[in-house]
Amino acid sequence: MLAAMPPTPDATAPGAAGPDREVPDRGRADACPGALRLHTADDGALARIRLPGGLLTDRQAIALAEAAEALGDGELETTSRGNVQLRGLAPHCAAELADRLRAVGLLPSDTHERVRNIVASPTAGLDTTAEGAVGNADVQSWVRELDARLCAADWAAGLSGKFLFALDDGRGDVAALDADVTLVAGPGGTRLLRLGRDGRGHPVESGREVTAVLDAARSFLAALRTHGRKAWHLREVPELLPAGTVPLPAFAGSAPAVGALRGGLSVGLRFGRASAGQWRTLVAASAGELRLTPWRGAVLPGAPADRLPGLAAAGFRTEPGSAWERATACTGLPGCAKSLADVRTDAARALDAGAAVRTGAGPDGLLPVHWSGCERRCGHPAGRWVDVLATGRGYRVTVNGANADVPEPDAAKAHEMNAVVTNAVVTNEEMAEAVAEARRTTK
Ligand code: SF4
Repeated sequence: MLAAMPPTPDATAPGAAGPDREVPDRGRADACPGALRLHTADDGALARIRLPGGLLTDRQAIALAEAAEALGDGELETTSRGNVQLRGLAPHCAAELADRLRAVGLLPSDTHERVRNIVASPTAGLDTTAEGAVGNADVQSWVRELDARLCAADWAAGLSGKFLFALDDGRGDVAALDADVTLVAGPGGTRLLRLGRDGRGHPVESGREVTAVLDAARSFLAALRTHGRKAWHLREVPELLPAGTVPLPAFAGSAPAVGALRGGLSVGLRFGRASAGQWRTLVAASAGELRLTPWRGAVLPGAPADRLPGLAAAGFRTEPGSAWERATACTGLPGCAKSLADVRTDAARALDAGAAVRTGAGPDGLLPVHWSGCERRCGHPAGRWVDVLATGRGYRVTVNGANADVPEPDAAKAHEMNAVVTNAVVTNEEMAEAVAEARRTTK
């Protein structure tokens, strides 16, 4: 498998905390937005609706589009956990939004709505390679069971809104997301449970998968109480966790390829966003079920390949190899007042132009790229990536995520940190070329 490559954190959060960073103060409640607790942003209120496993029926998906149009800015935004955010919400709309969500089963628990953070292999059961079927388990059934039991457990309401469960069918996609509790299905019914970022797993008996996952989360809360500690994530208190016994493999962390699968379709959303109209096109192309991915895409189980041209015409990514692959951007203007630019508009222009300057390298040969409106770099990828930062007088293009904490352009410092400054500051016109060049960097 390839080296692990976690995706971006949720778009409204600052960059992911790494193992080498300080653990923040956890003596306060987390401020993660939810469907009932809205976050106040510069473009209005923001609601984050948890979708365990990214799973949506067509009826639920349409209800989200209707809510976006009636109450928000008419757009739907997907997150790095396969959830959906509605932005630009009118003041005092929380009760109506909750009613709309309840009516279609998207708010099964008021007390637990923010802890339903579950990612699962989105193409489980739908794809194959020359060697045969990929994956070792129907993780979507685990998602439903885990969600139901989580919502029914009083203790689970004590988890942070950032606590993440990952259910991986064995291909190593969501297992690379460094969730708090990860269950990996192996061949022959073998299962391994990973706690935090431990490099070793705990064997789990087949049939006890969901019980083992819940027990791990409950034990974490109990250990915090016993030791008088405050933490949101298992990785913050590795000394309190039982060590695993079985070495875990490296996880590929690859997003599903866009296009036709053996059992459905896979498409990408540009910057993870879709207008309500685009969203309806997506729902119409489905066979009644959608799975949003942690990589800002959607998988449509059972949808026929002849729906791909219509999806491409509606603006979805349907063919691999585009410059849009592994390209992300923070909210920027007008949604975030801290931004020095409308980064998504500028980035879209550069990516569309960048298609023409790409080499024949496959998407895995290109570094991820992330545009930021300010130095917080919300939602940037982990690992090695191209940093495109608005400066107020153009964009600075830099290679290497390790440079993300360097506050000012500083070639000497960048060199120390093994970063490569390709161009101090580029204009919008120069950006496509500079970004394409930086993404091809291999050293
Ligand atoms: S402008 Fe800055 S604070 Fe605002 S979303 Fe972008 S990176 Fe985050």
